[in-house]
Amino acid sequence: MERRLPPPSLATRAVSASGSVIREALALTTRPEVISFAGGLPAPEHFDVENIRAAYDQVLSESSHRVLQYSVTEGDPYLREAIAARLSRQGLFTRPENLVITTGAQQALALLTTTLLNPGDVVAVEEPTYLAALQCFAYAGVRVIPVPTDANGIVIDALADTAAREHPRLLYLVPTFQNPTGHTLPAERRHAVARLAAEYGFWIAEDDPYGELRFRGEPEPWITAYEVASDRTVLLGSLSKVLAPGMRLGWLRAPTALCRSCVLAKQALDLHSSTVDQAAAARYLTDHDLDVRLVPVKAAYRERCETMLTALPHVLPEGSTWSRPDGGMFVWAQLPEGYDTGALLLNAIANGVAYVPGAPFFAGPANPATLRLSFTAHRPPEIDRGLKRLAVALDANRS
Ligand code: PMP
Repeated sequence: MERRLPPPSLATRAVSASGSVIREALALTTRPEVISFAGGLPAPEHFDVENIRAAYDQVLSESSHRVLQYSVTEGDPYLREAIAARLSRQGLFTRPENLVITTGAQQALALLTTTLLNPGDVVAVEEPTYLAALQCFAYAGVRVIPVPTDANGIVIDALADTAAREHPRLLYLVPTFQNPTGHTLPAERRHAVARLAAEYGFWIAEDDPYGELRFRGEPEPWITAYEVASDRTVLLGSLSKVLAPGMRLGWLRAPTALCRSCVLAKQALDLHSSTVDQAAAARYLTDHDLDVRLVPVKAAYRERCETMLTALPHVLPEGSTWSRPDGGMFVWAQLPEGYDTGALLLNAIANGVAYVPGAPFFAGPANPATLRLSFTAHRPPEIDRGLKRLAVALDANRS
């Protein structure tokens, strides 16, 4: 008989990245009867479908040979120009050469991980932090050190302690309308973060997919705008939350040498992001004022956020606390000790409502009484209906 050995097992990093119970439960939330506050989804009725379609039509009819062809890794020159111009108008002078267009900000994060981190290196993150950043770091085999946060984001003394003790190579943070907490880092703390990066010599990944969704208050400066750390801060941006996540377009803004390394890393991943999507996005940004477009979107998100915040005192058990974001997509809640939002999720889904349990957002020991609610994807009456269902699910737990 011929010998027939089994194929080798998966790589260690793939085995340790096996799915979670929460992930399986959340798969159920796509059922139409479930009102889901789980995903960070833009309101689909606010997609600018007509103008996006027109942008695709134009680039396909005027330059089909270019936009259906392979392209350069660093990104469509018109799109890089449009994004550089937009950032410059917003007060952050940017040259197109300092931008790499990526397949979503998620890929920008993967490129930074590949170019900046060796296995075993230390990465400091906010506690809690963006779940898919933790996944990205886990694949890279780096050591992730959580830094405590409060209602104003990362705690500077704690970051200074971590920097002195652990010597991180990278600090990853979402300073504006953070995922999952909705918290925003004030200017003084941003400056302090930049100074610590200079003092201790670490990179900063400033992930900012939500900054343009501010519906209250004044914008804070980007960390990368502080001269003291501008040579070591990489700004990650995205069209996902302001245009359409399905286009899968993001970018990183970095010093020239790092851009070059990221371009080489991207060549190995996907050669370049979709030519036609980039061309359509460039056309859209050239022909339309995104700021004007976002006015009604932000007004809708503000109303939806208010609806949720008004209802929460009647929904969450006494003793619960939650964030009050000035923009973005998320409210973060903490129930009284003893609640386990992971264990409660299936019950909530059975009641026709979903959220994301807080546990997977923690790099260190998780607080099982936390959860993330996104307020953007449903209109106010549906938010009220969904939260009533959540109240019932939580009540059932009480008795
Ligand atoms: N960073 C953060 C903090 C996010 O919340 C998200 C999307 N949920 C991303 C990055 C990835 O966004 P993109 O769609 O641009 O890949």
